[in-house]
Amino acid sequence: MAAEWAGLDAKTRAALDGSGGLSPEQADHMIENVVGLHALPLGVAVNFVVNGREVLVPMAIEEPSVVAGASFMAKLARAGGGFVAHTTEPQMIGQMQILDVADPASARLALLEKKAHILDLANQIDPVIVKFGGGARDLEVRVMAQSPIGPFLVAHLIYDTRDAMGANAVNTACETLAPTIEQITGGRVHLRILSNLADRRLARARCVIPVSALEFGRDDPASRLYGGETVRDRIIEAYAFAAVDPYRAATHNKGIMNGVDAVVIATGNDWRAIEAGAHSYAARSGTYTSLSQWGKDAEGNLVGSLEMPMAVGIVGGATKVHPTAQAALKLMGVTNARELAEIIVSVGLAQNLAALRALATEGIQRGHMTLHARQVAIAAGAVGEQIEAVAGKLVAEKKVRVDRAEEILKGSA
Ligand code: NAD
Repeated sequence: MAAEWAGLDAKTRAALDGSGGLSPEQADHMIENVVGLHALPLGVAVNFVVNGREVLVPMAIEEPSVVAGASFMAKLARAGGGFVAHTTEPQMIGQMQILDVADPASARLALLEKKAHILDLANQIDPVIVKFGGGARDLEVRVMAQSPIGPFLVAHLIYDTRDAMGANAVNTACETLAPTIEQITGGRVHLRILSNLADRRLARARCVIPVSALEFGRDDPASRLYGGETVRDRIIEAYAFAAVDPYRAATHNKGIMNGVDAVVIATGNDWRAIEAGAHSYAARSGTYTSLSQWGKDAEGNLVGSLEMPMAVGIVGGATKVHPTAQAALKLMGVTNARELAEIIVSVGLAQNLAALRALATEGIQRGHMTLHARQVAIAAGAVGEQIEAVAGKLVAEKKVRVDRAEEILKGSA
């Protein structure tokens, strides 16, 4: 149904439904010592409206509840007009560590005096990126006055990577510039590598949820009923916990990353880079805190926002060679990396709301365990119709454990 909706061709559908996708031969060209493939479930989150556009969101993830949670929260956000998202220019930071400089302060100024020349050199390295409107934008230089090895300089090359994640482009630029930097400073360029704290490449999303959409439990006789205003206030209280406590913020942000990573992986992007960027950004004040904010507006609606680095691409790396990643991009109908980042940050916000809403009402386990019980049943050896039957019994007994599932299967209870 999702494939029909997005008007996908047969090859693209095959890449999504598991009958096509990455071949062992293709995988063999991607990494070393390949022995096979490792599959993940691919789900499609529904109900998403991002900047007024309907979008189906592919999510590759092994954890139950995430795709359902994102879809349901997108439905609530839809009642308030969907997600409004935007991104900054796709600027990455390339770092060069400059050692053995006699006078760091004057070496810094010497580099800044030659900025135009250095940027010009950087722009000769990747004519393709420059052709697409990207390239070197700025050079910043800092003196690290105190370090375990004494003072040294750090130069940041600010580089617009357009539709590429950009690690290779930026690393190549830094390596190529190094001899020139050494000449200008009289020092020795040691590390030349991009920073994953991509705080020049931010994605932001916000949503407004009408209180009427927040009522909880009316359709479920087993649940307590929570009014919309109560749910809103409890969500804001839950957010406040993450805002001030790193122990809570870590789990709060993990919930955001449940949504973010699933789309990042589905599109063949580097989820370690996104994780590193997210958590370093969350700690940028010196104290690790929540990446999102929740509050209420003048009309009493719940309002949420999320801002985080989002270094994702739609060209280069695995995004280009992995057939499922290509199909995932087609399903979403994205035409540039910024659009992809805007969808991903919206999914992160939706996922955050799903966790907060569950935690702020009946707790996370009831809904989660129902889905988890299926995995436990499968782990115990259930097949076909047995899976739902065993899972249902585990939940009813509140004993979602493999040993109990095995007993049920053996018919011993
Ligand atoms: P890449 O080098 O494969 O592709 C990018 C290139 O595509 C550009 O340099 C450009 O020449 C070309 N291109 C074509 N159309 C373009 C367009 N519209 N916009 C921009 N460029 C266009 O990939 P990359 O994005 O530079 O690097 C990503 C890879 O680097 C990922 O696989 C990542 O895992 C890996 N990596 C990451 C790190 C890190 O995060 N610290 C370090 C090293 C490598």
